[in-house]
Amino acid sequence: MSQTRALYRLQKLDLDLESRRSRAREMAAAREDDRALQAAQAEVAALEGQLRPQEARAADLTLEIKSVVEQTRQLNNRLYSGAVSNPKELEDIQHKIAERGRRHAALEDSLLETMIAVEELQAALDAAQERLRQAEAARASAQETLGAELQQLKSEIKQLKADRERAASQISPEFFEVYQTLRPRKSGHAIALLEGESCSVCGVGQTTVTVQQVRQNLELITCESCGRILVAL
Ligand SMILES: [Zn+2]
Repeated sequence: MSQTRALYRLQKLDLDLESRRSRAREMAAAREDDRALQAAQAEVAALEGQLRPQEARAADLTLEIKSVVEQTRQLNNRLYSGAVSNPKELEDIQHKIAERGRRHAALEDSLLETMIAVEELQAALDAAQERLRQAEAARASAQETLGAELQQLKSEIKQLKADRERAASQISPEFFEVYQTLRPRKSGHAIALLEGESCSVCGVGQTTVTVQQVRQNLELITCESCGRILVAL
């Protein structure tokens, strides 16, 4: 193989290597990315944080209702026990019973509202927990797929590096150096093919002399316009 064609093959290997390395970096980043899972966890935690105080409030209201019912029962007992005969005191007891009645009704209203809130929050929490389970399953499956793909990429990269080393060893140090220097400046595309009489990258037509020299494949000839090394296959 001529030196220039060997260089072209080297560039192909380098480009292949770079695209696999960049894909591997993306995958490694995707493997670290657990934003969806974190969002689902945060949603569950937020709903739990809203639900707990409402449940506590419902329990408090239930206890308070019990207490009011008990107070009413005792007041009624006293009222009908016959032990109280003073009209002022009897009237006072009746007022207290009426007041407990109003309090009981207000507490029942609050309890009903609280129970509705608890039910709604519980339903929202159930749905959020289901989304969390799905996010966990999706992440586990993505981890597995990404892990396997990453493994495959690593072995391809290893093979390409070996191929690249072999290809590079067949190129004269002088040519190799020109290629290496040019490569970063041309975003990895230091070499362009001669297509007909034009550079395949910038499309500019070359002089007859240049075309002949490139076709001889003996020395490094660069494109008159973009400065890339021209290779005729
Ligand atoms: Zn060019």
